[in-house]
Amino acid sequence: MRPREPLRTDGPDFDAPHPAPGRDPRRVALVSVHTSPLAQPGTGDAGGMNVYVLQTAKQLAQRGVEVEIFTRATSSSDLPAVEAAPGVTVRNVVAGPFEGLDKRDLPTQLCAFVAGVLREEARHEPGHYDLVHSHYWLSGQVGWLARDRWTVPMVHTAHTLAAVKNASLAEGDTPEPAARIVGEQQVVAEADRLVANTDEEARHLVGLYGASPDRIDVVAPGADLDRYRPGDRDVARASLGVDPTEFVVTFVGRIQPLKAPDVLVRAAAAMVRERPDARLRVLVVGGPSGSGLDRPHSLIDLARSLGVEPHVTFLPPQPPERLVDVYRASDLVAVPSHSESFGLVAVEAQACGTPVVAADVGGLGVAVRDGETGMLLDSHRPDDWARAIGKLMDAPGERIRMAAAAAEHAEQFSWARTADGLLAAYRAASADHRREHPERTRARRPRAVWRARRGETGRVG
Ligand code: UDP
Repeated sequence: MRPREPLRTDGPDFDAPHPAPGRDPRRVALVSVHTSPLAQPGTGDAGGMNVYVLQTAKQLAQRGVEVEIFTRATSSSDLPAVEAAPGVTVRNVVAGPFEGLDKRDLPTQLCAFVAGVLREEARHEPGHYDLVHSHYWLSGQVGWLARDRWTVPMVHTAHTLAAVKNASLAEGDTPEPAARIVGEQQVVAEADRLVANTDEEARHLVGLYGASPDRIDVVAPGADLDRYRPGDRDVARASLGVDPTEFVVTFVGRIQPLKAPDVLVRAAAAMVRERPDARLRVLVVGGPSGSGLDRPHSLIDLARSLGVEPHVTFLPPQPPERLVDVYRASDLVAVPSHSESFGLVAVEAQACGTPVVAADVGGLGVAVRDGETGMLLDSHRPDDWARAIGKLMDAPGERIRMAAAAAEHAEQFSWARTADGLLAAYRAASADHRREHPERTRARRPRAVWRARRGETGRVG
């Protein structure tokens, strides 16, 4: 395994209250270039960010903020605009080929994408959007230009940071290119405010990207607590066709080296060697993603080569209404990631009353309470994972106690709370923006210019 480079984690306290409150926006442009909130998460580029964007957009809309989400059209059948929920519109911007464009090539389409975003805005009255919130660095590049053009504040959420990811790569995984780090630095410098998932992410933004601490808001992501609730394990197992007598350890997520599902498969092999009679089942839910796309069958091949294939069941990505049964059916959920900005799966599993065994990286240290709601492991060695899982397998009383604590712990992570945090960040951004750019007041573009831009009165010089 690659040695981990130390990351600076000291720094200021990010719990400090916001400066002067600004006003709530009426209409926000969310930018999510590389993945649509309407895509099924768990494969390709669709994961936690998709869930985050859609869930927070719905919550913002419920608070009276109209939300328009700009994403890249990836199918010729994508309509230009789709209502995802009351008050939430997804705008599919045509930028580059619909299919087959590698995520690594997306920077070539940012100009086309931003043109689509600006053209949409130009169809409306001046001041159509009050704020831009970009998700992931590619969107930050778009949001920054739109922000300048519209003279509104820009809030950015990185979701993942290349410098952090590169410091904890899985063996043989490809590092993120230096150009992405440059792009991230630009976005960090340009955004009016940054939203970080955890204090640790905030410290990385400061220590590795030079962000100013007083421009960062730490807002924890959430889980759909109405859906992810404890439920009957046997009913869930019956619905999935899982043997009621087996001990089930589950991985849910995009299958790629960074997520380390191989650690679980290798740990299962070690357990089966130690306990040949163990009724162990490893459930792997998700599809190939990232560098895992180059070898989509690598995990199946690994299970086969380790002779553990009869103990491993692979399921394709599941929608939330099926995922809830997956969590309920599991004795444990494993999150062995090498890097994780938060780890929604860990929270969703706990919300269903399932203890989580997770690598002690990134946000997982916040999502899981070591020894209380599951276990945090400072290791990716399969033997260590086999030992930890085996220990809990042998301690049903401990698991029952952890299950109750897990469900209680997860209650603090609701999307409603996340949206409240985002609104506070938006208010702070608008206050900062007004203070720092007094020249950028609303009503900045004369109506005649707007009408001219719509083609009603001729050219705008
Ligand atoms: N997910 C899903 N179906 C699947 C696998 C995953 O809906 O088959 C969702 C899961 O519920 C979670 C998200 O994808 O909300 C994954 O988020 P997480 O933060 O765990 O990982 P990320 O994808 O952001 O790396």
